[in-house]
This record gives sequence, structure tokens and C-alpha cells, in this order.
Amino acid sequence: MWLGTLPTFACWRCWQGNGPCQELKRVACARSARISLINAPWGTPVNECYPSGVLAKRLSLLSFLAIVAAQSGSSAAVPGSPAALPVKFRSAPYSMMSLSVGCPNSGWQQRAKRLKPSRYIKIKPGSQEKSYGHPALILMLERSAKDLQRAVPGSVLMVGDISDANGGPLAGHHSHQSGRDADVVFYALDESGKSVILDHYVKFGANGKAADGSGYVFDDWRNWLLVQSWVRDQRAGLSHIFISRPLRQRLITYASKQPSFQKYVPEVSALLKQPEDAEPHDDHFHVRVACPKDQSEVCREQSR
Ligand SMILES: [Zn+2]
Repeated sequence: MWLGTLPTFACWRCWQGNGPCQELKRVACARSARISLINAPWGTPVNECYPSGVLAKRLSLLSFLAIVAAQSGSSAAVPGSPAALPVKFRSAPYSMMSLSVGCPNSGWQQRAKRLKPSRYIKIKPGSQEKSYGHPALILMLERSAKDLQRAVPGSVLMVGDISDANGGPLAGHHSHQSGRDADVVFYALDESGKSVILDHYVKFGANGKAADGSGYVFDDWRNWLLVQSWVRDQRAGLSHIFISRPLRQRLITYASKQPSFQKYVPEVSALLKQPEDAEPHDDHFHVRVACPKDQSEVCREQSR
């Protein structure tokens, strides 16, 4: 009995296709999965993805029901468990490393590092239990906070949500699932031009003024120093920084007029952007690091 248009039931388990994650959104996986899906733990490597419906035409009702039964009863099929990883990643040295698995908006992590507050870096109230990320990200945040503290004593980097300890879906976010994304509160000044430490997100317009009437002003200097610090950080592997178009332009215009910042403008410009299909990020930075070099087999650079 051929089913025709089965839901893409198997697909979400097949994050490790050869293609980019976008291809996994509406596809049914996969050649190897077709053969071994019944016994496959979550995340079993697959070699190929078929467009939605192709796999369905090849499955009988009997095999579909068998898959449902096997997968619903499988305790090993839990994201974040070693059994969900390819064999290579279950043994040393990978079994001792922090792993970023899957896409930013469909992934998880293992052995994440927790951001520890210090005198120059704090966690925004409400984000304490969501402050776990890949060490590359956490250490980059710490280094940049130290840079700002050195450049402008008294500066405190306020970090919002990163990821849950094991990653996976995080309330209020599409991404933030694989430990490579962090939200960061903007540096701001008060009405008299004095530095303030914001412990919440404040929207700023193109004129640099807070939209909430609080009188806060977007601190061009420190916010530029921050993105410059991220961009210059050779160890982290920065992927991009989300910010609204008006604030992006504001920072670029500001830095272009400062002799000591001008040379970094092209590089920063390339990494600062407003996301196409998400909130504009006019009240915080969203910074993402790239997949760790040695984890390309399990880590997916782009959101699906
Ligand atoms: Zn974010």
C-alpha cells in the first residue's frame, strides 16, 4: 500500500544530511535512513535527502507504523545524548570536547561552557539559566568585555540569552539552539552623556535615542569598540553580528570619521547585518560564532 503524501516524519531526525540544513526543511530523509531508519538513533548519518513525498511513496503503511513505534520508544533518540551522535563523535577526543550540533535554529550542544559573571561581564536578569555556549563563544565574550573594561574603565558587558545547557529550542528565539548565538545589551549613556549599565534591552532609533522615552542614548564609541573587538578576535571565528539597519549605519558612519577606527570599517561592515526574516535587532546585538573547525560533520553553519 503506497501512502502518497506522508508527513515528512523522518526528516527532522536527519540533521546530518550532506546538504545544507535548508534542504532538510521540507525533505524526507534519506537513502541510508530508508534502509535503517527503524533501528537508527536520532541523528543517524544519512547520505542523501529526497524531496518531500519521494520517500513517502517508497514507504508502505506497515513500515511507517514500524518507524513510529520504534522512534517513539527509543530512549537513545534524545538530542544531547551521545547515542545521537555519529560513532566518531562518541569517542576521544570528541567525547571530551564541547560539541555544537546541527543548525543554529535546529540543534543542540554537549559539554557547553557556562558564562560566569565577573566585574566586567554580567548576565542579564532572566538569562542566568540560558548562559551556556560553545567555549569559542563564551571566551570571545569574555575577551571583548575585558577589552571594553580596559578601554573604558567601568564598562560592563551585559549578556542576554545564549543557550540552554544542552541546547535545543529556547523560548523566544528561533536560533540559540547550538551554543553559537548570544544576545548582548547595547552600551548606553544617560541624558547627561554618562555611561550607564543597562540590565535590559532598550530600543534605539537611527538618531541614537531610546524609543522608550528614558533618555538613554546609544553609545557609539563603546558599541563600536565592542563590534571591533569581536571582528578582530582571531580565535573565535566570528560568523556575523545582527543589528538593525539604522544602527548598523550609525556605527559605520561614526567609525568612518574616526582615524583609529577607519581601517576596520570594511571588515565590520561585512559582518554587521540586519537579519532578513527575524526581528530587526534594534534593542540588542545578536552575535554568532562559526562552527568549530573540527566539527563540520555535525555542526551546520546556516539556519535551516
Ligand atoms: Zn538572539
